[in-house]
Amino acid sequence: MTLILSSAPIKKKISKELKAECKVLASKGIIPYLKVILVGSNPASIIYTNNKKIYCEKIGARCDIVRLDENVDSSVFLTTVKQINEDLAVDGCIIQLPLPKHLAHLNDGKLINQSKDVDGFHPENIYALLSNQLSDKHFISCTPKGIVTLLQEYQISVYKKRVAIIGRSMIVGKPLAFLLTNLNATVTLCHSQTPNISDITKNCDIIVSAVGVANLIDKTFLSGEKNQIIIDVGMNTDTYGQLCGDVDFEEVQNQVLAISPVPGGVGPMTIISLAQNLLQASKNRVSL
Ligand code: NAP
Repeated sequence: MTLILSSAPIKKKISKELKAECKVLASKGIIPYLKVILVGSNPASIIYTNNKKIYCEKIGARCDIVRLDENVDSSVFLTTVKQINEDLAVDGCIIQLPLPKHLAHLNDGKLINQSKDVDGFHPENIYALLSNQLSDKHFISCTPKGIVTLLQEYQISVYKKRVAIIGRSMIVGKPLAFLLTNLNATVTLCHSQTPNISDITKNCDIIVSAVGVANLIDKTFLSGEKNQIIIDVGMNTDTYGQLCGDVDFEEVQNQVLAISPVPGGVGPMTIISLAQNLLQASKNRVSL
């Protein structure tokens, strides 16, 4: 029978651990503090930032959303970032993406100080990932980190496995490729210009789809031997307006060994990873 890689039991377990950690920190007068900069009023971004705030508060951390107008002047945006970087009370900061066009070019990964970069975008964090020199001082991009935690919690080893990742973005595909390579998987990173992706995925043990196209992955991408694992990162809306992934779940679910659902798979793991990074930043700040 196909194993459904639900994040619910993992969320329950890790949330308990994070709550306990926050309690210990609180007893020392420390409350992990996240600031989220949200520019404009993209409905999806508002939902994502609110979910982050709700989760942080649930585990006993603090999260403030700093809202800026869609047309905010770049100097005001940069001043806001600078103030947060200099605020000794703030442990972590993220800039909710996408930024409006007139600000997008400013986002070079160095806007947020490395020690507060709980999204793992700073060049120092990226270099540590690429060179396989990650330590507690570094932060791993939240979705890739969450995918690795999901696999580990279900005791799925990537060691010596062939992995196809579809999608090469800076927030999912590329960092995940390096993270899995560091764990001794052999990764093929596919994208919109990759010819015959299904020829690659058919020969892989694990397929990760991070594209953003509903029903892109159907059984023609599979080996047919019911021995593969699928991680669906996509967050799309189906024809009924419901959240769905990149994978045609109905068609594929009985053709694989394991599959992560949407919703209830990778999405919650991303928020958990953010909270883990925040607590790490907080402990680093007070050198615990
Ligand atoms: P993105 O920046 O738009 O990147 C999409 C990638 O998919 C690009 O590399 C693109 O190739 C590739 N692609 C597009 N069409 C393709 C096709 N037909 N065949 C193969 N590759 C194709 O997207 P993203 O930010 O990584 O997000 C991807 C999806 O994951 C979205 O649905 C997003 O909402 C979701 N997501 C979920 C979470 C979560 O927590 N669950 C977190 C982040 C993102 P090119 O590079 O050649 O353009």
